[in-house]
Amino acid sequence: MDIQSDIRFKGIEACKNKVWLSSPTMHGEELQYMKEAYETNWMSTVGENINEIERMASSYIGIPYAVALSSGTAALHLAVRLAAERLYGRQAANTGMLAGRRVFCSDMTFGATVNPVAYEGGEAVFIDTEQDTWNMDPQGLERAFRQYPDTRLVIAAHLYGTPGKIEEIRAVCDTHKALLIEDAAESLGASYKGRQTGTFGDYSIISFNGNKIITGSSGGMLLTRDEPSARKARKWSTQSREAAPWYQHEELGYNYRMSNVVAGVVRGQWGHLKEHIQRKREIYERYREGLKGLPVTMNPFDGENSTPNFWLSCMLIDCDAMCECVRSEESALYVHKPGKSCPDEILEALSHFNMEGRPVWKPMHMQPVYRNHGFVTRDGDGRARTDAYQKGERAWDVGKDIFSRGLCLPSDGKMTAGEQEKVIEIVKRCFR
Ligand SMILES: *Cc1c(COP(=O)(O)O)cnc(C)c1O
Repeated sequence: MDIQSDIRFKGIEACKNKVWLSSPTMHGEELQYMKEAYETNWMSTVGENINEIERMASSYIGIPYAVALSSGTAALHLAVRLAAERLYGRQAANTGMLAGRRVFCSDMTFGATVNPVAYEGGEAVFIDTEQDTWNMDPQGLERAFRQYPDTRLVIAAHLYGTPGKIEEIRAVCDTHKALLIEDAAESLGASYKGRQTGTFGDYSIISFNGNKIITGSSGGMLLTRDEPSARKARKWSTQSREAAPWYQHEELGYNYRMSNVVAGVVRGQWGHLKEHIQRKREIYERYREGLKGLPVTMNPFDGENSTPNFWLSCMLIDCDAMCECVRSEESALYVHKPGKSCPDEILEALSHFNMEGRPVWKPMHMQPVYRNHGFVTRDGDGRARTDAYQKGERAWDVGKDIFSRGLCLPSDGKMTAGEQEKVIEIVKRCFR
């Protein structure tokens, strides 16, 4: 074997044995529905798989309309355009539908939650995270409305499949006559007070990206109770064609519709959502038991009111168990000390054993691309307090604190109990 193919071979072997953060779990039905699309020649953005998963999503989640799209990001983009049209009367023939407008957004989330605001020329203002569920702080949101009273749109995500304080967020939005877009990309199947996430927003979205709780390899959906909005999203996602004999366009169009082949994968996965959630819950619980005795806690949730889908298991290191460490924009350094550790040491150790963890999602207000954007915490302008926690104050930038002390553990549904025990053992050793 020459060196190049030897390296490639070793790479493939490493991938086979790798314990992933979260990878697709297939069951067989996916292939059957994909094959059906092939054999009936519905190799297009029209077909039975699409119809069927829209029906399944709407009945499972409990929302009248579900529109299957090419990604969760596409769904968010259309949600933002629908909201802008309704709020500001902006013409759907235009780009920049949020030009000159602020939108309050979750801060500790994946970039896809907030980028569509920029696609439409708006300015995302980030709302700090609360410690109870690691999601948007309703008190911070209330404060932001006092600071920027003209704002009419909020985008809130449910991080790692843990429902945020969505009823309170909804109430703050209603008080200030704002629309709510709920980003349930990571939280499909999770519920709050018995209601599924994805039903609290005026517009909500889910994702079928490869790493999510169920997948289509890619894909997403827009959810709404409003029939005209669903109809518009369908039209905009298929290039905004008018009912004319020729291609007639009165509004801006997008190629955002889901493929019927992708929908076949989603259709095959849907029946396994419950068991995926059950597996993820077992993983979470095994970590919680296994890490007992260490100076760490699991990502928290409101056990009284919410049922997470446990998509990713995360842990947070106690403040006084953090070893000395620094992060630049693109790398990290730490000094090991007995009894202490830090996320980067643990991630490095896991990676050494071919196991994939990840730092907690880096907050948007810390991202260079959004450095000039507003950031509001529950008790002030977060930027002034960003380093407060290092001075021992409790009134700090919560997102930055969780980012510095937290990490996502390998949470793959196919991880064996033995592999998970190994993860736990590695974490333990980092604190020795
Ligand atoms: C994955 C994800 C998205 C984007 O979904 P895609 O289908 O990958 O475009 C949006 N928001 C959050 C919070 C996500 O995790």
